[in-house]
Amino acid sequence: MTARIVGRTPFSSALSARRRRRELDLLGDGATIDVLVIGGGITGAGLALDAAGRGLRTVLVERHDLAHGTSRWSSKLVHGGLRYLASGQIGIAHESAAERHLLLTRIAPHLTRAVAQVLPLYAPGHLSQGAIVGAGYGLGDGLRRFVGTPDALLSAPGPIGVAQTLRLAPAVRADDLRGAIRGWDGQLIDDARLVVAVARTAAGYGASVLTRVEAVEATGQSARLRDTLTGHEITVQARAVVSATGVWTAELDPDVRLRPSRGTHLVVDTARFGGSDVSLTVPVPGSRSRFVFTLPTQHGRTYVGLTDVPADGPIPDVPHATEAEIDMLLSVVSSVLAEPLTRADVIGTYAGLRPLLTSAHDDDETSDLSRKHAILESADGVLSVVGGKLTTYRRMAEDGIDEAVRRRILPAARPSVTRKLPLVGAWPRDLLRGVDAPARLVRRYGAEAPYAAALPDGPRAARGVTAQELQWGVAVEGALSIDDLLDRRTRLGLVAADRELSTDAAAAAFERAGVEPLAEGAEGMDGIAP
Ligand SMILES: Cc1cc2nc3c(=O)[nH]c(=O)nc-3n(C[C@H](O)[C@H](O)[C@H](O)COP(=O)(O)OP(=O)(O)OC[C@H]3O[C@@H](n4cnc5c(N)ncnc54)[C@H](O)[C@@H]3O)c2cc1C
Repeated sequence: MTARIVGRTPFSSALSARRRRRELDLLGDGATIDVLVIGGGITGAGLALDAAGRGLRTVLVERHDLAHGTSRWSSKLVHGGLRYLASGQIGIAHESAAERHLLLTRIAPHLTRAVAQVLPLYAPGHLSQGAIVGAGYGLGDGLRRFVGTPDALLSAPGPIGVAQTLRLAPAVRADDLRGAIRGWDGQLIDDARLVVAVARTAAGYGASVLTRVEAVEATGQSARLRDTLTGHEITVQARAVVSATGVWTAELDPDVRLRPSRGTHLVVDTARFGGSDVSLTVPVPGSRSRFVFTLPTQHGRTYVGLTDVPADGPIPDVPHATEAEIDMLLSVVSSVLAEPLTRADVIGTYAGLRPLLTSAHDDDETSDLSRKHAILESADGVLSVVGGKLTTYRRMAEDGIDEAVRRRILPAARPSVTRKLPLVGAWPRDLLRGVDAPARLVRRYGAEAPYAAALPDGPRAARGVTAQELQWGVAVEGALSIDDLLDRRTRLGLVAADRELSTDAAAAAFERAGVEPLAEGAEGMDGIAP
């Protein structure tokens, strides 16, 4: 089995350097396809899956790597829409809760889990704060029940006592503590993993997923594509060209107006929160609707986020946290900790730009429209799918392809099938429990974990990431460079020390897979401790 995986993988969804080369050659100059998707974040991957699942000949191009943009800088939550409910945006809240339900129960049970959100209550003011937060969580829970997510998956929220609060969140300050409100939401093992799983599922339905290919120019019927590895250019004819280029959308359609906002997270050792597995939720002083969260995650790390700061000016490939944001996050979260966090506790930071949509007539600070997704057509006929969020990617993709089918009268297009389509590795939760592989691998690869575990052994990376996981990234998940492995397939690059410890193991994984890694310098952006 090992040889088959390394040589010719049994999975039609496997992405690799060889497949990329073959499919790029096959596409050739002047090819005609049904749908060209530009951008390999969650929106583009979702569009490619939706189109390919309808039987359309689909090509996705991404100028860097899958999940190179905003999609890897999120909080990694599959939201139930509580925040939108609180501001009266019932439609968006319902869409979020419905999509969370599908992700947790059918589309990606292996990549998602329920996470407890614990908001500690301190005297004085604990009664009123508890009542307000409890009422909000109660509304969100009503929506959860309305969309049919069972109690067994996301329990009802409620108050918990002092002892239980300290048991769940041992790092919190005990003086004046009166208990906590506990709610539940969905959490991804990692956002970049979701993007890769969606893109691979699309590839399994016949889509060509081509990284390091840039759309240099596009109209509604054609695009000039450049292989960024060779500089070679081809022109592709497409019945529909759909852009999912996030905060870079205006490069292809200058009429689209985005008002990006930066969100920053810190990376802290989970031991600093007493090993807690719950998400601490701390209100930002002076605000009724903003909170700082701790988000316990893989590799024994916890993210602390997040900010919401206007980010005007040129869009960088990789945004950076500012000193002021780091100070703000440290100060808010420390307000509930027995031992405040200091700069020394920050072992990495990351920042992303929200692709918030505004319109030519909308000058509000943060418009309601910005949290919705929209499908816009450029003067040249390119359809852009913008706005929205990770949680609702499937719905955005379905709407985007519906629109393309309607406007371009795409032949042989069936209705979207993605509501019922499990991603690669997805099995029902009870079956996942029986998968014959280490639990850690099942959480990352689901039903595919035994195949990943069967790859040959070799040097390990940091944080117990195995040689097999690294090689799986090369042979099956389309990693072309050491950065792809460290910054997107494993996220070890979030902490500079982990990156350094893992580079040789990543190089060895390419060697075992018989693939030459791209000679890119380390991006040097993830994991820079301030
Ligand atoms: C800090 C932060 C936290 C968030 N937290 C959450 C959360 O917890 N839950 C949630 O649901 N949502 C969250 N979001 C929102 C969510 O992350 C974004 O809405 C989503 O990731 C946007 O995905 P996208 O595919 O549209 O854009 P991107 O991920 O940015 O993808 C666009 C891609 O297009 C590529 N590209 C651009 N131009 C070209 C071209 N010419 N040719 C080829 N490729 C091109 C880029 O390289 C990029 O990879 C968060 C956002 C931020 C910023």
